[in-house]
Amino acid sequence: MLNKNFKFLFTLYFIIFGIFITALGAFISYKVHIFNINKTIEHYAQEVSYSKLNDYLSPHIEKMNSLVEALANDKLLQSYLATQDSKKLAGLNNLFLTIANSERNIMQVRYIDASGEEIIRVDRDNQQSLPHIIQKEKLQDKSLRDYFISIKKMNTPQIWYSAVDLNIEHKKIEVPYKPTFRIAMPLFKDQKFAGTIIINILVKELFTSINSPIFNIFIIDKDGYYILHPDEKYSWNKYTGVKRTLYQDFPNGASDILAGKTEGNGFFAYKVNHILNNVDNAILILQPKASIEKSMRYENIITSAIVALLSILLSIPLAMYAAAAPSKLQRKLFDSNKELERFRSIIDKYVVTACTDIGGVITSTSAAFCKASGYTKDELIDQKMNIIKNPLMKKSFYHNLWETILKGNNWSGEIQNRTKQGENYWLEQTIIPVKDNNNHISYFMSVGIDITAKKKLETLSIMDKLTNVFNRRKIDESLRLEIQRAERYNKKLSLIIMDIDHFKYINDNFGHQIGDDVLIKVAEILQQSIRKIDVLGRFGGEEFLIICPQTEKEGVIIAAENIRKNIESYEFDTVQHITISLGLTSYQLGDDENTMIKRSDDALYLSKNKGRNKATFL
Ligand code: GH3
Ligand code: MG
Ligand code: MG
Repeated sequence: MLNKNFKFLFTLYFIIFGIFITALGAFISYKVHIFNINKTIEHYAQEVSYSKLNDYLSPHIEKMNSLVEALANDKLLQSYLATQDSKKLAGLNNLFLTIANSERNIMQVRYIDASGEEIIRVDRDNQQSLPHIIQKEKLQDKSLRDYFISIKKMNTPQIWYSAVDLNIEHKKIEVPYKPTFRIAMPLFKDQKFAGTIIINILVKELFTSINSPIFNIFIIDKDGYYILHPDEKYSWNKYTGVKRTLYQDFPNGASDILAGKTEGNGFFAYKVNHILNNVDNAILILQPKASIEKSMRYENIITSAIVALLSILLSIPLAMYAAAAPSKLQRKLFDSNKELERFRSIIDKYVVTACTDIGGVITSTSAAFCKASGYTKDELIDQKMNIIKNPLMKKSFYHNLWETILKGNNWSGEIQNRTKQGENYWLEQTIIPVKDNNNHISYFMSVGIDITAKKKLETLSIMDKLTNVFNRRKIDESLRLEIQRAERYNKKLSLIIMDIDHFKYINDNFGHQIGDDVLIKVAEILQQSIRKIDVLGRFGGEEFLIICPQTEKEGVIIAAENIRKNIESYEFDTVQHITISLGLTSYQLGDDENTMIKRSDDALYLSKNKGRNKATFL
C-alpha cells in the first residue's frame, strides 16, 4: 500500500473501462448490422421477385397470349373453319410455322378440331432446332387428353391456361423432361365448339433462368410439389415420383408457406397465379443462400472486431494520458492521508480527547484519555462521563458546564478528574458541541491536555509542604490583596496570628517527628475551625496566620476563641493536650501588611505574657 503505482492502476482502470465500452459498442453495432442484413436481404427478395415475375415471366406469357389470340382470329383459319376447304391447310401450316418460328420457347403450335383430332401441328424438337410441320399421317387424336376435355367445356372464346406439367407423347412422359405450359383458345362456329388453337411453351428455360446469386429459388404448386427446385432432380416431383417435401427444405417455414404467408423463417414467398392464371396456384419461394448470409455475417463480425481492436489500441495511450491527472491527485491524497494518519496517531497519543452523546455517554476516546484516566477503552465506552468525576469539584461547576454546552456553546476550563485508581488529575479542557445540518447538537467532543504536573508545581509553590496549608509567600500575598480590597471597597478585615505554646518542649521531649505530627494536626483543626472565605497559612515554625475578610473586632474575637478552644480540647496522639496563644487585630485605615502583622504580633506577645492559652485583640 505504501508505494502504490497510481499511474499504472489508473491506466489499467481506464483501459478496462475502455474495453468494456468498446465491447458494448461492438455488440450493439453487430446487432444493428444483423438487423440491416435482414433488411437488405428482404430488399433483395423484393427486387428479385419483381424482376423475375413482372419483368421477365409476365411479358413472355403476355406475348404467347397475343400469338394464340392472333391465330384464333386469323382470317385464313376462320375461312377454313367455315368451308373445311383442305386447300387452305397448306397456308395455315405455313402460318403456324411462322408463329412457331417467332419464339424459341414455342415447342408446338396446333389446331385441334372439335373431335380432338390434330389438324395442324408444328413441332420443335428442342430449343436449338427449327420448327417443322408434322405430316398428316403423324397427327394424333387428343380427344382424351385433359387439356382438350377442359377446353371443350368452355363456351366463350377466352384464353385458357394449362397446369405446368411434363410433356406426354404417345402416353409417356417425354425424356429429357419438357416442362410444358399450354395456352389455348377455343374456336366457335355458329356458336358451336369448333376445336382449339393451342400453343405448347417450354417453360424449362423460363423457369431455370429465374436464378439469383443471393437466393435459392423454388416454385411449388398448391399441393407443395416442386415445379422448380435448385437441385434439378427434385423438380417435377409430382410426376417423377422423387420424394422431396417442402419440410425438408424449409423445416421452420413450410407450414407458413403453405398457409399463404409471404415472409417467414428463412423464406420470402410470392404468388405466381396472376401470371400463369392456372390451377397450379404456384408460389415462387426465395430462400436466402446460407453462404451469402454467412459471408455477410462474417464480414460484419470482422468489421466489428477490427473496430473493437482499433478502439482498444487507441484506448491505451488515451488511458495513459487520462490517468496522469487523477493519479497525481490520488498520490497527493494518499500522501495527505498518511500525514493525517500520523497527526491522528500523535493526537491520539498525546491529546486527551473523548466524544460523548448528548446524554454524556462516552462513544470514543483517545489513547491519551485512557492513559490519564487509568481506564481501558473498553471500560470507558458506553459509560457516563462522570465515571471520572472528582467529588472534590463543586456541583455548581458541573451545572455551569452543562448549561453552557447544552446551549450549543463551547466550554473551556480546568477540571479536576479522578482516575480509576482514585488519584486526582487535572485537565485543561475544551468541550465542543458538534452540530448536524439542522443545527441540532449531535454529540460532544472534548479536547484537553493533562495539566496535573503543572498543577502540582503550582500547588507546591504556594503550599506548605508539611501542613498542606498556604505557605508564607502565599499568605503574604493573600494578605496584601485582602488589605487592598478592604481599602478599595471599604470592607472589614481582621487578622489572627497564632503560636503554639511551649512547642519547643514538645520537640525536646517527644522528638521532632511528633512535633511535625502536632503541626499537621493543628493545621487541620484550624482549617476546620475557620470559614470558607478565611485564608489560613503557615507563617513560620509553629506559627500560623489566619486572614478573616469581612470580619470586624467582635467577629474575630469569637473566631479566635473558637479556635483556641478547639485546640485546647483536642486530644493529640502522644502529647495529649496543647494550647495556643493568639494575637488579633482589625484593618485600620492606612494599614499595610507590615503594620497589621506587627499589631497582631504585639497582641500575641501580650497573650503569651498573660500566661498563654489566650487571645488578645490589639
Ligand atoms: P512559647 O510558648 O514562648 O512560644 O515557647 P516555645 O517553646 O513554643 O517557643 P520557641 O520559639 O522558643 O520555640 C519554637 C520551637 O519550634 C523551636 C523550633 O525548634 C520548633 N520548630 C520550628 N519549626 C518546626 C518544625 O517545622 N518542626 C518541629 N518539630 N519543630 C519546629
Ligand atoms: Mg514561636
Ligand atoms: Mg511557641
